[in-house]
Amino acid sequence: MYPKRGLQVKATPSSLRRAVYPGSFDPVTNGHLDVIRRARKLFPDLVVGVAVNPGKGTLFSVDERVILLKDAVRRLPGVRVIPFNGLVVHFARSQKACVIVRGLRMLSDFEYEFQMALTNRKLEPGLETIFMMTSEEYSYLSSRLIKETAALGADLKRFVPPLAARRLKEKAAE
Ligand code: ADP
Repeated sequence: MYPKRGLQVKATPSSLRRAVYPGSFDPVTNGHLDVIRRARKLFPDLVVGVAVNPGKGTLFSVDERVILLKDAVRRLPGVRVIPFNGLVVHFARSQKACVIVRGLRMLSDFEYEFQMALTNRKLEPGLETIFMMTSEEYSYLSSRLIKETAALGADLKRFVPPLAARRLKEKAAE
């Protein structure tokens, strides 16, 4: 299944069932959770990777982002949340996963995701990127918008899981 040079991971039955879903998750939104729920049907062993250093200032520390995600997925068997540093392909390899899952909302996501998927394929030819199309009710949701509206005092219970909504409210009051 794999080209000779490429992913060092053998495509064993367990690695074929495992995917990583990497991101900043600053904070986790209901859009992310929707991707996680649907990806989990395809990959019963789903590792959500929280980027330690996503190259942008984050509102929440990596520890906080992991806590918020772990709380949100606590009733979803087969989903693990793990922080990671560095390249996504190295993270996927360390987890012995064969697939990277990403979400797509708008056309505007496409260009960046496309470039990244092609770059990752060059880095690790055996690793596939799979895109989950957003559900339309979440197509407008982004962590950036959530942070902006939270800072202005919006009630975010409909958009993010309960613990994230609480922490956003506390942050806005700081
Ligand atoms: P990153 O900073 O790596 O883009 P994000 O936390 O913003 O990380 O998003 C992680 C992944 O989830 C990305 O592929 C992003 O496109 C996807 N995503 C974010 N919000 C949604 C949503 N509402 N619906 C579907 N996918 C989403």
